[in-house]
Amino acid sequence: MQRMSLKRASFHFAALSILAAVTAAETTPQDSTEAPLVILGARLVDTSVAGSGEPVTVLVQDQIIHAVAGEVEIPSDARVIDARGKYLLPGLADMHNHLRSGTFLPGDKPAEILQQMLPWGITTVFDPAVHGAAYQLLRDEIGKDPDAYPRVFLTAGLFTAPKGWGRGHQPLSAAEGRTVVQSMQASGSDAVKLMYDDMSWATTRPFAVLDRAVMAAIIDEAHRLGMKAFVHAPVLELAAEAVEANVDCLLHGIISDPVSPEFIESMLEHGTCYMSTLTMFHTNAGYAAWADRLEEFDKYEQLDPAILDAFRLPAVQGGTARLDNTAYAARQLPVLRENLLRVANAGVPIVIGTDTGIPGVLPGIALQLELVMHVDAGLSPRQALNAATRNAAAMLDQASVFGSIEPGLAADILILDANPLEDIRNIRDIYRVIHAGRVYDPELAR
Ligand SMILES: [Zn+2]
Repeated sequence: MQRMSLKRASFHFAALSILAAVTAAETTPQDSTEAPLVILGARLVDTSVAGSGEPVTVLVQDQIIHAVAGEVEIPSDARVIDARGKYLLPGLADMHNHLRSGTFLPGDKPAEILQQMLPWGITTVFDPAVHGAAYQLLRDEIGKDPDAYPRVFLTAGLFTAPKGWGRGHQPLSAAEGRTVVQSMQASGSDAVKLMYDDMSWATTRPFAVLDRAVMAAIIDEAHRLGMKAFVHAPVLELAAEAVEANVDCLLHGIISDPVSPEFIESMLEHGTCYMSTLTMFHTNAGYAAWADRLEEFDKYEQLDPAILDAFRLPAVQGGTARLDNTAYAARQLPVLRENLLRVANAGVPIVIGTDTGIPGVLPGIALQLELVMHVDAGLSPRQALNAATRNAAAMLDQASVFGSIEPGLAADILILDANPLEDIRNIRDIYRVIHAGRVYDPELAR
């Protein structure tokens, strides 16, 4: 009984505990996050090369990986994590996450949801649409103690058409679009996101789409100002126009039609990356089946049964007034999965994102399930892990900052009990997560 209530409390309020130093238990928590950290003897799952990893020791100082080697001299004041027999990989990134609970309940607290990501192994989060005043509020909240959060990237709102899908900036001309991009840059937005979708894959009454010239001007202005531009465009014809306009990444997979060789060729030519958000499309296609899938996957019973049951209620099945054709979306899921495999095999960079916060796409577990679903769609575990680590960093030109276990990079590290290359579902068996000098034990959040 005590155990249960503790578990729920930590899941909902993200009461994360920082482990006391393993070898220097007398130090204060403040000291312990600043002391060097040594990870001893884990096998390195290098997602960039083939072959099984050798046991290595990693030395972390000032939140940076200083050494990765067979033997490393251990500083006398170091915290030591004995990771012999375990597996080491870069912390995971969720490059499409809206920092909402993914339930039907109101009152989301984005900063708390961000903190909840850490014990799930997620050390980087990109939210491509933080609207209005919430944007600066979230920046300010994170600014009070940045080390307590994953690495975070945000966009100040998004672009859509008048009467288009989603709320956001609705420029009526190319010039107006460029002006809004400039104001987004001034507010520190990490990138630009556009809706370019009539939602015809999920509704019988399609929405208006941003004017093509306005779309192209927004992307061009973002690039002129040194920002990346990303698009929500799951309809092939519209995605092809965005790729032609040099958008940097598709934030959803193509669900409308099989991707054509010409489309893939265009993506390769423009260096566009591809994100499938398989979890989002699957939950959208039917909440009840999705709740079963979540429950089956929830190895450590971290999900609240009441939340899962809410997705099984008859009233929430069969779409909504605005999205009344989710049955069509459900029939198209094989196309979505096959498209992912085709673009991946053609060499298009794949990036993992979940669209967490869409009902059914629950914080933390969604990313683990997204990895599993990528492998179920035909990718190798290595390809899937790459998509959630180094490709994710590259998407925002951050590959020299995070995304792999190399000296000089940030010590965003995941230690697993079992090898994810043998079975991607081993991604659930997290032993420790390291980010910003802190060590998280997921057991304490279970
Ligand atoms: Zn989204």
